[in-house]
Amino acid sequence: STGRLGGLNNSESGGVADAKNLRVKLVLLGDSGVGKSCIVLRFVRGQFDPTSKVTIGASFLSQTIALQDSTTVKFEIWDTAGQERYAALAPLYYRGAAVAVIVYDITSPETFNKAQYWVKELQKHGSPDIVMALVGNKADLEEKREVPTHDGIDYAEKNGMFFIETSAKTADNINQLFEEIAKRLPRPSSS
Ligand code: GDP
Repeated sequence: STGRLGGLNNSESGGVADAKNLRVKLVLLGDSGVGKSCIVLRFVRGQFDPTSKVTIGASFLSQTIALQDSTTVKFEIWDTAGQERYAALAPLYYRGAAVAVIVYDITSPETFNKAQYWVKELQKHGSPDIVMALVGNKADLEEKREVPTHDGIDYAEKNGMFFIETSAKTADNINQLFEEIAKRLPRPSSS
């Protein structure tokens, strides 16, 4: 990944056809059980189905969204599919990624700590212009919350990340997550 646009314009990430139709590799990171697969399935298929995890992982799922300026963004979404344990494989996985979505569970401070580990890892080894989103998932479990919203906001602000709380279960903020990421992508020049 040597180009100025990093993960956006090189062949590792699938390349970009033109300024109006972006194609980006997006990786999901975070502890097992925080809801990564459920977020993807909610976004791509519009459903909440915790049992269909086995169907992803072999390859990526993709989903295209249109922005108001008529740009389209095709996300090629890579889920770790349970490979969180093999930290040594992580650099292969996020290589060429234009976007990293780092997920924790708002009911679990341990997963928030782990999210911070992944942010540092990406700051060290990821593409320099990677767009990072910090996601506090399971926001429907407010009564079990153990990570205050402002902790997420503060950490994200300090690290130049976009922050949002989501629920894959209720679909709250799932589309917004991807729309906000799309808006933050560096655009290739149309010359
Ligand atoms: P992954 O290991 O990070 O991919 O996590 P999964 O997507 O497999 O989800 C782990 C568990 O969390 C499943 O039992 C889901 O039903 C549950 N889960 C995922 N997202 C949510 C959510 O937004 N709210 C609630 N209440 N449960 C969720």
